[in-house]
Amino acid sequence: MKKFLQVVVFCIIYTTPVFPISGYKNFKVAVYARAYEVQKMDSIQWLERIWNEISQQVNVDKIYLETHRDLIIVNEKTIESAKKFFESRGVKVAGGITLTVNESNRFETFCYTNPDHRKKVKEIVEYTARHFDEIILDDFFFTDCKCDLCIKAKGNLSWTQYRLNLMTEAAQELVIKPAKAINPKVKIVIKFPNWYEHFQGLGFNLETEPKLFDGIYTGTETRDPVRPGQHLQQYESYLIFRYFENIKHGGNGGGWVDTGGLPYMDRYAEQLWLTLFAKAPEITLFDFRQLQRSIHDTDRAEWQSAHPSFNFDEMIKPVQTGNGKTVTPTTVARAAGYTFEKVDSFLGKLGNPVGIKSYKPYNSQGEDFLQDYLGMAGIPMDIVPMFPADAKMIFLTESANFDPQIVNKIKEQLASGKNAMITSGLLRALQGKGIEDIVELRYTDKKALIKEFAVGGQSNCMSKGEILIPQITYLTNDSWEDISCIASGIGWPILHQARYSKGSLFVLTIPENSGDIYNLPPEVLNRIRNVLSQDINVRIEGPSQVSLFVYDNGTFIVESFLPENVSIKVITYKQINKLNNILTGEEISGKVGQDGRIWGRERTDIMTFDVNIKPHSFLVFQSK
Ligand SMILES: [Zn+2]
Repeated sequence: MKKFLQVVVFCIIYTTPVFPISGYKNFKVAVYARAYEVQKMDSIQWLERIWNEISQQVNVDKIYLETHRDLIIVNEKTIESAKKFFESRGVKVAGGITLTVNESNRFETFCYTNPDHRKKVKEIVEYTARHFDEIILDDFFFTDCKCDLCIKAKGNLSWTQYRLNLMTEAAQELVIKPAKAINPKVKIVIKFPNWYEHFQGLGFNLETEPKLFDGIYTGTETRDPVRPGQHLQQYESYLIFRYFENIKHGGNGGGWVDTGGLPYMDRYAEQLWLTLFAKAPEITLFDFRQLQRSIHDTDRAEWQSAHPSFNFDEMIKPVQTGNGKTVTPTTVARAAGYTFEKVDSFLGKLGNPVGIKSYKPYNSQGEDFLQDYLGMAGIPMDIVPMFPADAKMIFLTESANFDPQIVNKIKEQLASGKNAMITSGLLRALQGKGIEDIVELRYTDKKALIKEFAVGGQSNCMSKGEILIPQITYLTNDSWEDISCIASGIGWPILHQARYSKGSLFVLTIPENSGDIYNLPPEVLNRIRNVLSQDINVRIEGPSQVSLFVYDNGTFIVESFLPENVSIKVITYKQINKLNNILTGEEISGKVGQDGRIWGRERTDIMTFDVNIKPHSFLVFQSK
C-alpha cells in the first residue's frame, strides 16, 4: 500500500486557501470521461461520489462523455442520465468518440478501406450526434491498418499519400456529413495528438482537416521527456498549441493533458501551465478515471524544499469550498486545481504570445520536433504553416524542404533585406536544389567530435560533453563562421553567415543527436539567441533548459526546467530600464550594456537584468 499524504497534512500549520467556486477568470476546464467510465455512470451513487471528490478539488466547467472506445458503446439510458446529472450541476456537456478497435493492441484503429469498418464508424458517429450538440474525436482518427484491402487500395501511392487522402474522405463521408444529417446544429471537433511531426504518415491531415471540422483541439501532454516513450520535450506543451492555433486561428478550442508518465507531480503542473502560457481557452483533463489517482509521497520532487512554482506542501493544504466546507486534497485533481488557481492570478495580464517564426509546410517532416529543443534552449519559437514573409528573421528546419519553392522564397526574403537561419539538415536536403545559388556550402558526410567553441571572435568555451556534428565546408571569404568549434586543431562552423542581396543567410549546425543542443555552452546559445531575436525585444542569456515566453504587451515569462537554482540574464532594449515581477510586485533594475564584447563591439544600446530562478519554476515580468 502506498502511504498517502493526508496523514502529513494535519501536522502543517497554514491559512486555508479558498477554492474558486465560480470558476477561473481566464480559461475553462473540462474533464473527459472514457466509455469505460461513462458506462459505470448508470449508478448515480457511484457517479455522485466520484464527481464530488473531483469537483471539490478543481473547478470544472464542462464534461465530455464518451460514447465509444474499443467497440464498447455506452447505452442511451446511461448517456441521458449522465447528461442530466451534469447539467443539473451547471456543468456543460459534450460528447466524445474514440475510434479505436482495441487500444491495448498497439492502438488498433479502424480500417477505413474495409466497408464493414466504415459502416461501424458511421453508426457510432450518428449515434453520438443524436445525443450531443458538440462532439470531440479523441486522438485516434488516424489509421495504422495495413491489411490486404489497404495494401491493394493503396496501389502505387505511398502510405502517407494514401492515408492522407483516405482520412480526408473519411472525415467528410463518415463523420461530418452523417453527424450533421442527424443533428444539423452539431459542432464537430477533431483533437490532434502530440506527435505532430509524424501525422501525415498515419493520415492526420493538418492541411484539409482543420478546414473541414468546426474546431480543432490540441494534445499538449508531453509527459516524461527522458524515460522510454515518446521523448517529447516539455516546451512542446506550449508550442504545439501555438502551431495549431496558427493553422486554425480562433478555432483551436483548447489543450489536453493527462497524468501519464509522471516522474514527479511538478511535471503534471508544468504541462498544464505551459498549455495556458500558450493562451489555450480551455484545458481538458484526461480523464475521469485518472483524476481519481491518489497523491503519493513519492510525487513530492527532491527540489521541493526550495518552494518551486508548483509548491507541493502548499498544494496538499486543505481548501475551503464555497459552502464553507473544508476539503483535504486526496487526488491529482487537486494538483490541477492548485495549478489553475496560481496561473489564473496573472494570465489576464499577458498579451498575445509571439515567437521566432519557423515555417513548417503542411504534412512535412524532418529533424523531428527540433523547434521544441530550441524552445528548451531559451529561444521563443512559433511554428507557422505558411512562409512568414513579414518576419525580419525566420528559422527553417529540414521540414521546409517539403515546399518545392523554398529556395526562391528564401531568396525573396534576403532580397527584401530580411534574414533567414536554416539548419544543417535543411542545407543537406537542398544540396543540388538551388541553395548553392545563394551560397556554395558543402554538407559533407564527414563528422567531427567537438567540445571546444569560439564565439564572436572571443576566447574559447567548452560544452558539457563531446558533441558529434556534421562537417560543413565553405569557400574562404565567400561566407564566414560566426560561431566556430575546434577539434584536433581544425575548426568547423556551428553558426555560419552568408550575405546575399540585402540580407544574410545563417546556417546552424545541428548536432547529430539533437539532445546535444542542451550541452552547448551558454556563450554559444547566447549568440544563437541573439542572431535569431530580430523580431523579439527580449532575450535571455544562460544555460539550456530555461525557456522564454514572450507576449506582445511587454510581458514575458522565464521558466527553468532544471532541478537546481539557475542564474540567467535578461537582455532588453535600452528604453526598458525596469522589470516588474508580476507574481511578487518586486521591481528589478538593469544595467546598461552587457558583459563581454561581440566581434569586438561593446553594446550600450541594451539593458541587462540579473534573474535567479528556482528549480522547475517560472517568473512573470512586465517590462517598464
Ligand atoms: Zn485495412
